[in-house]
Amino acid sequence: MRVHVRQKEAKSLLTKASGFLEGYTHTLNPYSGCSFACSYCYVRQMPVALFHEGEAWGSWVDVKANAPELLEKELVRAKRRGPVTIFCSSATDPYQPVEAKERITRSLLDVMSGDLALRPDFLFVQTRSPLVTRDANLLARLGDRVRVSLTVETDREDVRRAFTPAAPPVQARLRALRELRARGIPVQATIAPVLPSSADFAERLAGIVDRVCIDDYFMGDGSGGRRTERIGVRAIYDALGLSDWYSRDAYQRVYEQLLRHFPQERVFVSQQGFLP
Ligand code: SF4
Repeated sequence: MRVHVRQKEAKSLLTKASGFLEGYTHTLNPYSGCSFACSYCYVRQMPVALFHEGEAWGSWVDVKANAPELLEKELVRAKRRGPVTIFCSSATDPYQPVEAKERITRSLLDVMSGDLALRPDFLFVQTRSPLVTRDANLLARLGDRVRVSLTVETDREDVRRAFTPAAPPVQARLRALRELRARGIPVQATIAPVLPSSADFAERLAGIVDRVCIDDYFMGDGSGGRRTERIGVRAIYDALGLSDWYSRDAYQRVYEQLLRHFPQERVFVSQQGFLP
């Protein structure tokens, strides 16, 4: 899909966190839009996407070109009011392909990992892109004030391709997790939404990370699964002959596998895995 990239001046950057992310003070989105275009992404139904009427989700990205200047100003103000905990990002992927050239996320990390007075109390980086390893030096400066959560919904590449053809391959994500962890950066493998996977999935993860989170549409889409039903993801399960994985208890299969390879306190379910 051809992606239309536009440079925009954002009016504000840090947004008050609420709902599923109420454990944070703010969310931070360096871009609007996301060219990973995951089939199950419900951001396509949110106002930010509906505003781009006539443009398919995944076909446009707005670059918040003035983001670093804004962040600096807003962090000063926010920190005056108390602890600042940031979830990056709630409605885009901060390391989607355009970031390789635009480097907005990197410039924001530069702000947050530079002057001590501007450091957030905690930063959660949510991505499915190995590009995050490019910024390992900046992330490492934040010590235990940061966690990188890399989405790995499945270990089956055929399943990954069916649901998220524009997203990075599974192996590349696993390598990224390994690299970040080797560099001392707190990481988590995030199986969200849980997709059909092999019987070895948990074992493969156990060799790479010591913390995992698992979530599904029914717990994590903010509507008990109704949003996902409207998007029509069920059709992909049906086409793959894997409809039995589209159910409220399907996550239990992977959860039980995880408990055979990780201590229970290192396996987080849904919202618990995204808390600061
Ligand atoms: S990476 Fe995240 S924001 Fe981007 S399309 Fe996929 S689910 Fe949506």
